[in-house]
Amino acid sequence: QPEHSEVTICAYCGVGCAFKAEMRGEEIVRMVPWKDGKANHGHSCIKGRFAYGYATHPDRILKPMIREEITDPWSEVSWKEAISFTARRFKEIQAKYGVRSVGAITSSRCTNEENYLVQKLVRSGFGNNNVDTCARVCHSPTGYGLHQAFGTSAGTQDFDSVDDADVILVIGANPTDAHPVFGSRMKARLRQGARLIVIDPRRIDLVRSPHVRADYHLSLKPGTNVAMVTALAHVIVTEGLANERFVRERCDWDEFQDWAAFVSEERNSPEATEQFTGVPAADVRAAARLYATGGNGAIYYGLGVTEHSQGSTTVMAIANLAMVTGNLGRRGVGINPLRGQNNVQGSCDMGSFPHELPGYQHISSDKTRTAFEAEWGVDLDKEPGLRIPNMFDAAIDGVFKGLYVQGEDILQSDPDTKHVSASLAAMELIVVQDLFLVETANYAHVFLPGATFLEKDGTFTNAERRIQRVRKVMSPKNGYGDWEITQMIANAMSLGWTYSHSSEIMDEVARLTPRFANVSYDKLDKDGSVQWPCNDATPDGVPIMHVNGFMRGKGKFVITEYVPSDEKTGPRFPLLLTTGRILSQYNAGAQTRRTENSLWHEEDVLEIHPHDAEDRGVRDGDRVRVQSRAGETTLHAKVTDRVAPGVVYMTFHHPMTQANVVTTDNSDWATNCPEYKVTAVQVSPATGP
Ligand code: SF4
Repeated sequence: QPEHSEVTICAYCGVGCAFKAEMRGEEIVRMVPWKDGKANHGHSCIKGRFAYGYATHPDRILKPMIREEITDPWSEVSWKEAISFTARRFKEIQAKYGVRSVGAITSSRCTNEENYLVQKLVRSGFGNNNVDTCARVCHSPTGYGLHQAFGTSAGTQDFDSVDDADVILVIGANPTDAHPVFGSRMKARLRQGARLIVIDPRRIDLVRSPHVRADYHLSLKPGTNVAMVTALAHVIVTEGLANERFVRERCDWDEFQDWAAFVSEERNSPEATEQFTGVPAADVRAAARLYATGGNGAIYYGLGVTEHSQGSTTVMAIANLAMVTGNLGRRGVGINPLRGQNNVQGSCDMGSFPHELPGYQHISSDKTRTAFEAEWGVDLDKEPGLRIPNMFDAAIDGVFKGLYVQGEDILQSDPDTKHVSASLAAMELIVVQDLFLVETANYAHVFLPGATFLEKDGTFTNAERRIQRVRKVMSPKNGYGDWEITQMIANAMSLGWTYSHSSEIMDEVARLTPRFANVSYDKLDKDGSVQWPCNDATPDGVPIMHVNGFMRGKGKFVITEYVPSDEKTGPRFPLLLTTGRILSQYNAGAQTRRTENSLWHEEDVLEIHPHDAEDRGVRDGDRVRVQSRAGETTLHAKVTDRVAPGVVYMTFHHPMTQANVVTTDNSDWATNCPEYKVTAVQVSPATGP
C-alpha cells in the first residue's frame, strides 16, 4: 500500500499529463493519472503510466566521472573534483581559442528552471550566446513560422478546444502514437461526428481505425507539404471560399491580396501540383472545400511538417490557410503544433536560442539586454551565437572546442551521425549531464549524473502553453537536481549564484519575462496550472490566443513558394524514407528501452509496401539493408500497405539501428531544423546477422 503521494507531470510527450505518484518510501507503487490534470483529465498512455522504471535502472550512472582523453577509461571522482575540472577546462579553452569557442545545448526533457540556468550560464559565465536547444531538431520551424504570421510562436488553443471542432485537419502528425492522450480526445470528437482530413504519406491509425474513418487521406509524397497546402489555399481562394470579413478585419489586406494572387496562379492548383504531391486533384479540391465550409476547422500538426527543408514555409502556409478561412481566435479552431517532448515549449520559452533571451526577447535589443544585465550583474554579448549544426561545423573548422550538453543524446538524435561524431571528436571538452552513458558520452570528457523528473522540483510547459509543477517524489539518487549541478558549475566560474530552491529561479524568470510576469509556484500550487501569457493583463492565463487581434497586430500572409527538396530519388536511391515514433517508445529510447515498454517494441522496423518488397525479394520479417547517400543501416522489414509504393518508413528508437546514419544534413532554410522526413534510399536484402 502507498504511504504518501505527490502530483507531478509526465516527462515524455508534450501533452503534459498529470499523475499522482503513489509512493512507499522511495519506491513508486503506481502512477495514477490525476483526474484534475487539466491536460489529461484523468487519462494516460502506457508511457506515463508504466514507463518510469528507468529511474531505478542499474544502468544509471550515479557518480561523476572524468577523463583527459576520450580513449582513456573513466575515473569516478567527487562532485567537487568533477565540477572544478569542468570549470577549469572551459576557462582554459576560452583562454586559448577565444570567448566564443564554447557553448551549451539545453534539453526539452528538463524543467524550465534547468533550461533557464543553462542559458544563463552560457550568457553570463561563458560570455557568449552559443546556446541552443534540442527543439532545434524538432519544432524550431514552428517558432519561426508562427512568429512571422502572428507575432508569437505558440500553439493557439488549449486541448479542450478540440471538443468544438467540426473539421479536424491533421498534417504530419500521428497523435495516437506520439500524443496518445490527446489522440484519444481527438478520436472522441470524431466519434461525435467531426469530419477528418489527414495529410500524411503514411496511413496512420486515425485514417482507419475502429469507429473513426478519415473523410480524406491525402497521401502525399514526402517533401511536398508546401505544394499541398498551397493547393488547398488555391481552391479556397479561386472558388470564393475565403472569409473576407475576417481577413479585412484581422490581417494585412495588401499582403493578403499579393498572396491571393500568388495562390490563384494555375501552377498552384491541385491539378498542376499533382505531379509533385501524387495526390489526385479531386481529393485535394474536396478536402479544401470541407475545411473551408465545414464549420470550425482545427489544424493539428507535428514533425512531419517541421522536419523538412521547407519546414518553416509549411508552417507559414498552414497559418495562411487558417487566416484565409477565419479559423483563429475562438474555440474549436486554430493551429496546434503537437510538441514531441514534454518541455519543448518551455525550453524555447526560457531563452535556449542563440538569438533570444527568455520570453523570445531578441539579444540585439539594448533595452532587453540592459534589463538582464541589471538582474544578472554582467555585460552581455549582443551578437547571436551558434545554432547546434553551426556548432558542429565550427568544431570541424577547429574554432569551437567545448560543449556542455544537458539531457540530450545528440549523437543519436541529430542527423548525419558521421558528421556529428567527427564534430564531437574534434572538440577538446565535452561535458554530458545525463542519466545513462548515452551514445554522446562516448565522446565526453566529463560525465555529470543527472536526475530524473521524479527526483526534482520545477515546471514543464506543455504543447498548449500550460505551465505545470513537477514535484520531487524521491530523493535524487545522484545527490543533486540538474539545476543544482549547473549552479555548481556557475559558481566554480565565480558567478556567485545563490538559488536555494527552483521556485527562486521561476521568480527571476517572472521578473525578466513579461509573458511570465505573474507566474509563481504559489500560483501554480493554488490554480494547478496556467497557460501563458500570465501577467497583469491576463492574470489567469490565456487558453485561446488571438481572440481580439494577433500579437503582432495584423496577421501576416506570407507567399509560400514550393521548392523541391535537394534530396532526390534516382536509380541508385529510388525510395523515399521517412521516420517516426511508435506508441510504446520514446525518441532515442534512453528511458523507455530501460522499462518494460521495451517488450512491446524490441527493435526498430522498416515499413515497406508489398510491391517494393516483392521487387527486391524482401519478405515480411527479413533483415534488410537501407542505404542512402549519407550512410547505411540494417534492420527487419515489415511489409505493409500502410506506406505507399515508393515510400519506406522507419522508427528510430534503438541505437543498434542508428536511423540517423542514413538521414542527410539537409535542413530547413530558416532554422536549420534537419530534414529527417525526406531521405532517398535503396533497400535490399541484408546478408549476415
Ligand atoms: Fe500523457 Fe504523453 Fe505522458 Fe502519454 S507520454 S502519459 S500522452 S504526457
